[in-house]
Amino acid sequence: MSVVQLKCKICGAPIDINPEDAIYNCNSCGQAFTADGKTFENHYFFPNSLNKDKVHEIVGRFIKKNSFLRGIKNYSIKSIKPMLLPFWIVRTRSNTHFLGYLKYSETRTRTSGKSTTSESVTVYRPIEEDINEDRTDVILARRATVIFGYKKVKKLIERNIENMVHFDINLLKDKEHEFQYLSTEFSDIDANQLIKTKIFDEHRRKAEKKCTKVFDCYTQITFLGTFFTHFPVWLVEYDFKGETYRVVINGNNGEIIKGEIPVTKLFRIINFSLSILMIAFGILINFFYGKNTKLIPWLSGGLVAVLLFFTINNTFKPLSVIE
Ligand SMILES: [Zn+2]
Repeated sequence: MSVVQLKCKICGAPIDINPEDAIYNCNSCGQAFTADGKTFENHYFFPNSLNKDKVHEIVGRFIKKNSFLRGIKNYSIKSIKPMLLPFWIVRTRSNTHFLGYLKYSETRTRTSGKSTTSESVTVYRPIEEDINEDRTDVILARRATVIFGYKKVKKLIERNIENMVHFDINLLKDKEHEFQYLSTEFSDIDANQLIKTKIFDEHRRKAEKKCTKVFDCYTQITFLGTFFTHFPVWLVEYDFKGETYRVVINGNNGEIIKGEIPVTKLFRIINFSLSILMIAFGILINFFYGKNTKLIPWLSGGLVAVLLFFTINNTFKPLSVIE
């Protein structure tokens, strides 16, 4: 991957771009450009409300809240990276008209005089229906990069779309850091094509559910708007006893998107002891009350099994992920 250096047409700052980029942003003024260098104004984002100090506070609260029985003290923050994740928002209105038949067997009874006969017949019922749908899809504007917690960001965008505003660099800058724009690999045309295929497939599947055989299935899609948006996240790495753990914070409202918490030795010991206690408790209950009723062994056995599953699970995993 070779990097090309250009000069921003708006502010003059140097911009590094990859040939794969469909949209690129000037790191200095935030202006978006298309691959052929034209300014791109269909650019929205979710304003950032955090800075480094607030991020320290949020991570501190997160660890404190989740360190119960774990004894997490003396962690240190290794890195804080404010980042903008690129997404496309595609609004569509679609109609699918499909034709097919449904095959099923039916029992018919015939009465002639006093005798009744019943027979099984195969019925072919023609189906002709429409699927109408207005929808908004959010997709990450990148091929394969999986960013810690990104799937949740997609849902956050869907749920908080009213917070989205036209891009304004003044609503982004924090005191200490510059946001990194994660490069955008999909253009609006790519995004529309992906959503088109998605709708085609989904409607086809719906039609197939209603019919034994679909003869004809025709989908028409009207694109009502395709928007490019950035979502601010703060990626934090902290160190605890030589291991690194990650936390991703929603830059728009300061909530934790996803975070990792160490499973400490203390936590393992507590969980392990609890598991042993649980088994002992189960045996004791059965010993004293097991003969009275048949239900007790089942109930205590089941309860112990469920609790054991959770404690053993906690005892052996390397870290907990909190969402
Ligand atoms: Zn610029």
